[in-house]
Amino acid sequence: MKKALITGYRGQDGAYLSRLLLEKGYDVYGADRAGDAGLWRLKELGIERQVKEIDLDLLEPTNITDALEKVRPDEIYNFAAQSFVLVSFAQPVLTAEINAVGVARLLESVRKTCPKARFFQASTAELFGSTGSAQKNETTDFHPRSPYAVSKLYAHWLTVNYRQAQGLYACNGILFNHESPLRGEEFVTRKITTAIARIKKGLQDKVAVGNLDALRDWGYAKEYVEGMWLTLQQPKADDYILATGEVHTVREFIRTAFAAAGIKLEWRGKGLAEKGVDVKTGKVRVEISKEFYRPADVKELVGDASKALKVLGWQAKTKFSDLAALMMDAELRRLEGKKVKL
Ligand code: NDP
Ligand code: GDP
Repeated sequence: MKKALITGYRGQDGAYLSRLLLEKGYDVYGADRAGDAGLWRLKELGIERQVKEIDLDLLEPTNITDALEKVRPDEIYNFAAQSFVLVSFAQPVLTAEINAVGVARLLESVRKTCPKARFFQASTAELFGSTGSAQKNETTDFHPRSPYAVSKLYAHWLTVNYRQAQGLYACNGILFNHESPLRGEEFVTRKITTAIARIKKGLQDKVAVGNLDALRDWGYAKEYVEGMWLTLQQPKADDYILATGEVHTVREFIRTAFAAAGIKLEWRGKGLAEKGVDVKTGKVRVEISKEFYRPADVKELVGDASKALKVLGWQAKTKFSDLAALMMDAELRRLEGKKVKL
């Protein structure tokens, strides 16, 4: 039986990957710092008792080594991160400590305690930053635009370096945005779908958001963890982009999610005065607030995952409108006390 250690297992990807690996017969160890996330995702997936929990904080080298010595994993998936871009502008040092130096602590500990283990780093499309609107592939230059992206850039290159200089089987998944009913509520897709469900049930009037013009490549997290697992099953370690190849604005996501909930939304006005109005009732359901703008945003991110298709046989199947619809359905089910499809 293979042993896998997943850091940040209480987060979205950690929960989905835990389920996938349990289904594949792995002995799964979930490492987290027992922070805000709690176990709700694992509980919704019905696997909270099957994952063996290990205390691990990427800020603390001692317990990283203790965890690796205890588990002696065959595969390590590093998801632990301060993963929210907006917070990274307010907490750049903590973000770097966790996302950058934390990965140095982890890789160094892997090198010393279990150098044969296969290592996956959750790298990000945010690395590309302001490199224009063309589809990004594994050879596109990086130009990060936030402390989050800069911290992840260090971790990305360090992973490459431990592969090249230390001979570790270490890979980066350059992950474009991937969402699901298990996504954190601070991210725009889940923020929108939770708000719409509450609006629909009369529990909330409207929702305030930031930059409606940002263009993102949004896929389904449940499928992305399969790509991450496949990454570690190859004869040779390498880096892969995981993306859908489709790009849509935040504005489109909002309209599509409202439509999935049976509400026709129309955009009226411009700039900070722009509003999303329910065509049927005339009620304002979406407004713009400066609070949610970033000091520097990434205008457009779209990925070319053809290498993943060619080598891993992986492809994103769920695209934009189906993703919005399944997230909307899950949110309404939760409010109705029904079981969520995950
Ligand atoms: P989440 O934010 O849902 O999960 C991150 C997890 O890391 C949380 O459980 C968090 O716990 C934990 N964590 C935070 N700090 C530490 C620490 N110091 N030590 C140990 N654990 C810690 O992220 P996702 O599941 O969405 O993403 C997984 C990874 O993929 C992240 O690294 C993210 O940056 C990266 N990524 C994600 C993308 C996406 O679209 N989802 C796109 C590109 C990259 P707590 O609740 O205590 O903070
Ligand atoms: P990110 O791509 O990892 O930063 O994921 P997010 O879901 O946090 O943000 C995606 C895009 O949506 C970014 O360009 C944000 O600026 C934009 N956006 C617009 N309004 C909001 C909002 O209210 N919350 C968040 N999180 N993002 C928003």
